[in-house]
Amino acid sequence: MRIGFLAVVALSAIGCAPAPSTSPVPASAVAPLYMPRDIRAAYRKGTRSPDGRPGPNYWQNRGRYNISITALPPDRTIRGSEDIVYFNNSPDTLRNPVIKLLLNVHRPGATRGGGSPAEYLTTGVHIDTVIVNRQPVQWTGGDNPSTSQRLRLPAPLLPHDSLRLTFKWHYDISRQSGREGMLDSTTYYLAYFYPRLAVFDDYAGWDTIEFTDVQEFYSDFNDYDVAVTVPANYVVWGTGTLLNPDEVLRPAILQRYTQSLTSDQVINVASRAEMAAKSVTKPARNTWRFRATNIPDMTFNLSDHYVWDAASVVVDDATQRRASVQASYSDAAADFHNMIRYGRHALDWLSHNWPGVPYPYEKSTIVHGFAGMEYPMMVNDESYPDTVFSRFVAEHEIAHTYFPFYMGINESRYAFMDEGWATTFEYLIGSVDLGKERAGEAFKQFRVNGWIGNPSSLEDLPIITPADALSPSAYGDNAYGKPALAYLALKDLLGDASFRTGLHAFMDRWHGKHPIPWDMFNTFNDATGQNLNWFWNPWFFSNGYIDVGIGGVSKSGDGYNVVIDNIGGMPIPLDIEARYADGTNQLFHQTPAIWRSDLRRASVTIPARKTIQSVGLQTGIWMDADSTNNRRSP
Ligand SMILES: [Zn+2]
Repeated sequence: MRIGFLAVVALSAIGCAPAPSTSPVPASAVAPLYMPRDIRAAYRKGTRSPDGRPGPNYWQNRGRYNISITALPPDRTIRGSEDIVYFNNSPDTLRNPVIKLLLNVHRPGATRGGGSPAEYLTTGVHIDTVIVNRQPVQWTGGDNPSTSQRLRLPAPLLPHDSLRLTFKWHYDISRQSGREGMLDSTTYYLAYFYPRLAVFDDYAGWDTIEFTDVQEFYSDFNDYDVAVTVPANYVVWGTGTLLNPDEVLRPAILQRYTQSLTSDQVINVASRAEMAAKSVTKPARNTWRFRATNIPDMTFNLSDHYVWDAASVVVDDATQRRASVQASYSDAAADFHNMIRYGRHALDWLSHNWPGVPYPYEKSTIVHGFAGMEYPMMVNDESYPDTVFSRFVAEHEIAHTYFPFYMGINESRYAFMDEGWATTFEYLIGSVDLGKERAGEAFKQFRVNGWIGNPSSLEDLPIITPADALSPSAYGDNAYGKPALAYLALKDLLGDASFRTGLHAFMDRWHGKHPIPWDMFNTFNDATGQNLNWFWNPWFFSNGYIDVGIGGVSKSGDGYNVVIDNIGGMPIPLDIEARYADGTNQLFHQTPAIWRSDLRRASVTIPARKTIQSVGLQTGIWMDADSTNNRRSP
């Protein structure tokens, strides 16, 4: 933000609103971005810096979680105990921390974004024991169905001090599976299963946003040791390093598993027949131990009959580091037999192209479930008859590795920094998989038409609207399609090299932290050396939509002048199509830069040497709400 923000401050200080006449850009185009009062306060405190970097006073809290859980299917009760050491790196004294009990969303009376069948409902999370710094305390939550509950501390947690918490709890796993739950009577997907401290941050304090099963999550970067105890003949797949494969797997299976970690070829680690013959795990009740550090969450899948495939792929050319790709699935799911191939391709492509940052984890496990949902190192996807769609979903969910997990995004408040980027990468990898035309058609149908084809005021709410204030219908387009179109328009505007510079600067500065939208906007401005506020303002802070039309066409020197009206007010790229009198046609690409000085009207000269019969506008994936005004003759 070094260029624009200071320039505008200087201008207003001398009472000079309009830009100097030498500048092609009016002052309104580089006006500072709207900033909520709590965000402004963070900048004043120096936790965030106006150039987009973390500020000199930036801090974040973290925890060390030591968790043991027991799942004994077909018994639905999951029992857990955990020790948490929580470090308060903030300058604030913390008195009543917020504890997230996310699975309370299943409790009757919980606030939910949609209706819930009986199979979804459970009695929620039951806290059996709470110990604070070795002192038992009473849990006062009772039947409260909230997913965010306060814990009264016997003594406040001072700045730069730590707190030790022990929880024992149990809950019944939901019979209906969504982001978690029973996949079948002996296959469970365990997610959000442990009490955790909410994020306490520098701009909003405790995260008290209720989990309603619509908006997503916001997590500290913690260290985890998790022990999952299951009956004999159950395999557990999960986030983190499996610490004791030799304790839980039989030698032949262990050998195949170990081999897969360096293999490009798909290895069937455990077949359906071996699972049925109970020849995969050691014969007793087994405890599978997983460890991960500096990661937002841990998730597990367990089954007594799922097939296990694995291979690996080089994700970092400089170090030749490999990441493992694993799949756990019901043998009947035909598409999942290809899943290692899709997963290897996704890790490879994302690491080497967009975002072009080596896949940051040691593995990715694609689980056959019902969700289409991402977790650190895990993906829970439905099976589809159309393998093109199976691959598409896997690529989208694996792309989430970067946003939200690597980047620590507050998904529940700023979903567009999570889904918007995943949707952008989904389109870019899809353009390679399917060709640009097919990927574009799918993108329009799946990601854009719901917004552009729906004139409801909900659809045109500014993307910056807090995601927790959006109804489910407004959430979808503001989280996915609209921001993806903005990021892709930015790529077209900047060109790939400069776009990469901005994106990588943002990722370098903020991975492992908690960036907010202004950190992203300011970093792109700073790293590309351009004040892009004229672009950010309409795309993220306005009620604009996409509608352009031709205002006029006239002969001009060697070419033609085309006036384009921007009725919807979004700075999109487009192609001007010249249809010549001789029956041929030609496309003239225009980046969003045509809107830089005037968002409402652009005057473009195209070097069309032949006589033009008519001129049309093609907006590609940036679908035009009204294309009836997109063609005109001189
Ligand atoms: Zn997503």
